[in-house]
Amino acid sequence: MYAQNHLAHAISRASDGRGEALFLTRHPDGAEVTYAEFWAGAERMAAVLVAAGVTPGDRVAVQAPKTVAMLELYVGCVLAGGVFLPLNTAYTPAEVAYFLGDASPRVFVCDPGKLDALTPIADEAGVANVFTLGAGEVGSLVDAQAGAESGFTAVARGAEDLAAILYTSGTTGRSKGAMLTHRALASNSDVLRDYWRFTAQDVLIHALPIFHTHGLFVATNVTLMAGGSCIFLPGFDAEAVMGYMPRATAMMGVPTFYTRLLDQEGLGEAAQNMRLFVSGSAPLLAETHDRWRAVTGHAILERYGMTETNMNTSNPYDGDRRAGTVGFPLPGVELKICDPETGEELAQGEIGVIEVRGPNVFAGYWQMPEKTAEELRVDGWFITGDLGMVDADGYVTIVGRGKDLIITGGFNVYPKEVEGVIDALPGVLESAVIGVPHRDFGEGVVAVVVPEKEAEVTPEAVTSGVADQLAKFKQPKAVVVLPELPRNTMGKVQKNVLREEYAGLLS
Ligand code: AMP
Repeated sequence: MYAQNHLAHAISRASDGRGEALFLTRHPDGAEVTYAEFWAGAERMAAVLVAAGVTPGDRVAVQAPKTVAMLELYVGCVLAGGVFLPLNTAYTPAEVAYFLGDASPRVFVCDPGKLDALTPIADEAGVANVFTLGAGEVGSLVDAQAGAESGFTAVARGAEDLAAILYTSGTTGRSKGAMLTHRALASNSDVLRDYWRFTAQDVLIHALPIFHTHGLFVATNVTLMAGGSCIFLPGFDAEAVMGYMPRATAMMGVPTFYTRLLDQEGLGEAAQNMRLFVSGSAPLLAETHDRWRAVTGHAILERYGMTETNMNTSNPYDGDRRAGTVGFPLPGVELKICDPETGEELAQGEIGVIEVRGPNVFAGYWQMPEKTAEELRVDGWFITGDLGMVDADGYVTIVGRGKDLIITGGFNVYPKEVEGVIDALPGVLESAVIGVPHRDFGEGVVAVVVPEKEAEVTPEAVTSGVADQLAKFKQPKAVVVLPELPRNTMGKVQKNVLREEYAGLLS
């Protein structure tokens, strides 16, 4: 189907002629959506978008809860030749104002509850059409969709045309819009489907948000390209996921999914039918990997990717899935470790900045040519900003974000190394090591430590526990004990929040 539209063609091929096959089972009501129903819904969405004035290349911004209609809107936007621009549901109206001003979308779709607050903001940004996704609401897109005809002819789009813009989480500076082409999205899902062995028999537990690359592209596109089905949850709910596991085959999640599921009774039994657990978007603790294997018998498959590049590396499907590593570069993806100062490639085993190149890499940052030139080399290598190393067997390990590197008295401290030592201390669940201003050393190491349930950990115990394991300059100059670490919706530890909170601790 849709041969003239690169991405639509790629994601519809597996269900071509299999319209009666199940695509989605909706949580919590169990409603089922077949492929034929889904494609008809997406085509109607496309017709509504075109009627609203969307022409090829126009942005369609959406900040709305995760629903089947939102997924139809994504695919409908692709069919209409538009550029899908999903926004994190946690963004405040002031943040949305920045994105609308920056991306100047033709259409903005929002939560009905936010319509009053966001309409003036959309007007200010010159957005021609504001819709909601709720049936029976003012400006409802689904009502318009119900009245539209199916049988929409997909707008022609080539491999190099844009399919989506996803803004990066922007923990420092302005958030940047990563421009993703039809080629980047289609090629990456194609590779992942085969690498992770997805087929039409797969039933994926889909509990990730769909404003982010993990849930929107990895989970959704891989399922579409395999012709399998998803159990579609509006958000993560450990009990519900437990209930679905016996009739599912795979799950893609962030590390917090796994730690929360480990607290559930009966996990080992529930997971028996599953064939694959994938983790990414944030580092999975080796301890979680080990506990999961002990309880379920499954080794979680960890992979590494980012908004700008889709997925870059993955642990193997067959073979050793090594805890604490993100596996090998995916087929078609080149990866090298470079000196942060000179950009020269480093020898195997050394720590440096990870650079990647391949068909999965984005086309640049929306309207930010200088930023694009800083991070995307003319020969196609993207400077990820992640620090990592490749071991003798070719496994890649992420050591941290470049901006998390601590330089104290002229020495480099990689937070992950210190975190590894602290995490292994008795009673410690996890830790986050940050650099904060220090009057003598420029920066000093601070450890924020979370004890295991019912364990007691004191700052003194941490300080003495690391004393003979780490060089003096790597040892924390202060230790803070907290019940949990601040995390964003994708489970990433917000080190910027910690750095702000404890900025004055050593000065
Ligand atoms: P985002 O663009 O929001 O998907 O964030 C991408 C960043 O998340 C990467 O640059 C890494 O810093 C981090 N990340 C993703 N997957 C992993 C992983 N498996 N282990 C460690 N960090 C990861």
